Amino acid sequence: LAKAQGKQRLAVYADGMAQEARGKADLLEGLSAALAEQQLVVHYQPVISMSTGEVTSYEALLRWRHPERGLVPPVEFIPLAEDTGLIVPIGAWVLREAARQAVAWSAAAGRPIGMAVNLSPRQLADDDVVATVAAVLDETGLPPVQLTLEVTESVMVQDVDRVVDRLRTLRTLGVRIAIDDFGTGYSSLSYLRRLPADTIKIDRSFVIDLAQDGASRTLVSSIIELARSLQLDVVAEGVEDAAQRSVLQSLQCSHAQGFLFARPQPAEAQLPGQLDTAVAVPAPRSAAEAAL
Ligand code: C2E
Ligand code: MG
Ligand code: MG
Ligand code: MG
Repeated sequence: LAKAQGKQRLAVYADGMAQEARGKADLLEGLSAALAEQQLVVHYQPVISMSTGEVTSYEALLRWRHPERGLVPPVEFIPLAEDTGLIVPIGAWVLREAARQAVAWSAAAGRPIGMAVNLSPRQLADDDVVATVAAVLDETGLPPVQLTLEVTESVMVQDVDRVVDRLRTLRTLGVRIAIDDFGTGYSSLSYLRRLPADTIKIDRSFVIDLAQDGASRTLVSSIIELARSLQLDVVAEGVEDAAQRSVLQSLQCSHAQGFLFARPQPAEAQLPGQLDTAVAVPAPRSAAEAAL
C-alpha cells in the first residue's frame, strides 16, 4: 500500500512539474510577442526627498498585460526574458518609454524630474548597451544627469573588470549609476569599493523591521553613514509605514521609496512631480526632536 501511495504521490508531483514546464513554455511564447503586441507597460513609482517631501524622481517598473493572465509581475517573466535574451530589446523599449516620460514630466513640473531604469546583468553585458543608452538620450532630449541606471550587485558575478569598465563607460555619457537592493549581495563592501556608483538603494529587507529591530536599525544606520562618507546618495526601498519613515528621517536618510508614499502606477495615474496630499511627508523633524 505504501508503495502504491508513493507512486501516486510521485505521479502527482511529475504532473505538477509538467504543468509548470508547460506554463513556462506558454509564457515564453507569449513573451516573445508581447512587445510587438503592445502588451508591455511601464509603471512608475516616485522617489521622495525625506527633507522636503518632494518627488525627486521615479523608478520605471515593467509590467506585462497578459491577454489571459492579467497583469504579470516582473518576477514571473524577467528571469525568462533574461535567459532568452529577450530582455535586451524589451529593456531598450523600457528605457525609451521612461526617458520620454521623464522629459514630459519635467516640462509639466517645471523642474528636472529624474528617472531610474533597472538594468539586468544580461543587458549590461550586451555590447550595444552604451550605444542604446546614448541613442535614447539623443532621441528624447533627456539630460543625461536625469537618468539613473540601477544595477544589483549580482552583475558582479560576471567578469568584474568588464562590468566596472562598462559602468564607467556608461557614466561618461553623464548618466548616473545606482546599486539596487544594496546589502543583499554576499560581498557588498568590497564590491562597493570597485563599483562606480552614485547612489545606494537600501534593500527592502532591512527596512521592514526597522522600527522594531535594533539590529536592522544599526545596519541601516551604517549603510547611510557609509553612503555619506563615500558621497553617495541613498534611497531606502520599501517604506510602508510612518514608523519606518520616522526612523529613516532620524537617521538622516536622504531619499525614500515605498507603498507609504505611492505604489507603482501607470503614467496616467501620476501627477507629475507630486503626490496625493494624503500621503505627503510632514516637515522633517529636527535632529534633536528626532532623538527624543
Ligand atoms: P527593484 O528594482 O528592486 O524594484 C523594487 C520592487 O519593490 C518593485 O517590485 C516595487 O513594486 C516593489 N516595492 C516598492 N515599494 C514597496 C513597498 O513598500 N513594499 C513592497 N512589498 N514592495 C515594494 P516589482 O515592480 O515587482 O519589480 C521587481 C523587480 O523586477 C525589480 O526590483 C527589478 O529588479 C525587476 N524589474 C522591474 N522592472 C524591470 C525592468 O524594466 N527591467 C529589468 N531588467 N528589471 C526590472
Ligand atoms: Mg530597482
Ligand atoms: Mg530594489
Ligand atoms: Mg529587487
